[in-house]
Amino acid sequence: MDDHIIHELLTLQMDGIRKYIDQQDHQSVRKAMNALAAYLMSRGLKPPSALNQWFEWLARPVGTWVDSSHEDLFNLAEPVFDRRIKDISFAAFCFSQRFGSTDDYQTRPVLQVRDHCKQHHSEEGYVRFRSILTQSKFAVLDQEDYVRLISDEKDLIIREQLMKCYERIDDWREYRKCPRCGWTLHFERGEWRCGTYNACWKVSKHGFIHPKAFRFKKGSRVYRLKPGIHRSVLVPGLPEQRIYEKVRKTYPQAELYPNFDHDGDIRVDLGGCRVLFDVKSYLSPHGLAKHLELSKNGENVQVIVIPSEYEVEGGPLYVKRLKSRLSGRKDLQIISERKIIRYLKEKERREQIQCV
Ligand SMILES: [Zn+2]
Repeated sequence: MDDHIIHELLTLQMDGIRKYIDQQDHQSVRKAMNALAAYLMSRGLKPPSALNQWFEWLARPVGTWVDSSHEDLFNLAEPVFDRRIKDISFAAFCFSQRFGSTDDYQTRPVLQVRDHCKQHHSEEGYVRFRSILTQSKFAVLDQEDYVRLISDEKDLIIREQLMKCYERIDDWREYRKCPRCGWTLHFERGEWRCGTYNACWKVSKHGFIHPKAFRFKKGSRVYRLKPGIHRSVLVPGLPEQRIYEKVRKTYPQAELYPNFDHDGDIRVDLGGCRVLFDVKSYLSPHGLAKHLELSKNGENVQVIVIPSEYEVEGGPLYVKRLKSRLSGRKDLQIISERKIIRYLKEKERREQIQCV
């Protein structure tokens, strides 16, 4: 069977899972189930006839229903659906990243708010919304704080989308609080982990030693950011916020998430020129190089900033290795977080010389 048929089949399944999780439209779930049923029958396998059976198939290693000739397409030892995180599996996520297909439905509220704020020229509303999603104190909330957070938001569209970023968790006692991002740690293979990638653990100097339990009242209703928001907005947002605060101390005119993301994460107006920084949280310089090679830099970003904890995790030559991989990209500069103020001072000095 052609790779593209399997590609489409897997894409449909991921689409179905995401839509099911977000309770968006059950047509996609039906479409995914029907496509899987037809495929399984063509291979003489018993098709799923109910939703739970569909999930059962998707929680099995893909290699149990797709033949080994497709191993370049998908890690066949892994399932499409990860029961533990109740979302698409890490292998499925890699597949969708690599082949660019399924939208990340859980992060759709961010795009919705961006469009809404753009239409209404409310840059402030967008920055406020993004800033909520990138602060550890809002990662997991009891009902009282959740309701307060939602009702404090006066823009009804933003409020509606903010609600979509959270999900209720009944089993909150089984989790621990991530000391870095504030989200839920789950216990797996003898250790506490934060999300699918466990990035917080990897960039924390000493890992998670005795992480604390959540201290909510008995019988509390508890809400947390959805896994997709945690992964794509909260975790990378932590260094963005920190670096912004650092820059703002010296350059109070610095702006966070300017121009609806078109000008990177942080913009600093130096009078004669504007410097646009993009903060990139990648664990390895190779991963980041690949991402930057593939992205066309259609936006206006000039300087890539590597957050300190990622630089430490990626090794002492992180920036050097990245620079040598991207030596052809004259439009991009790469600096460490610790050099950002020095970089701006130097830029300012040059501007002044030019003006004299
Ligand atoms: Zn975390």
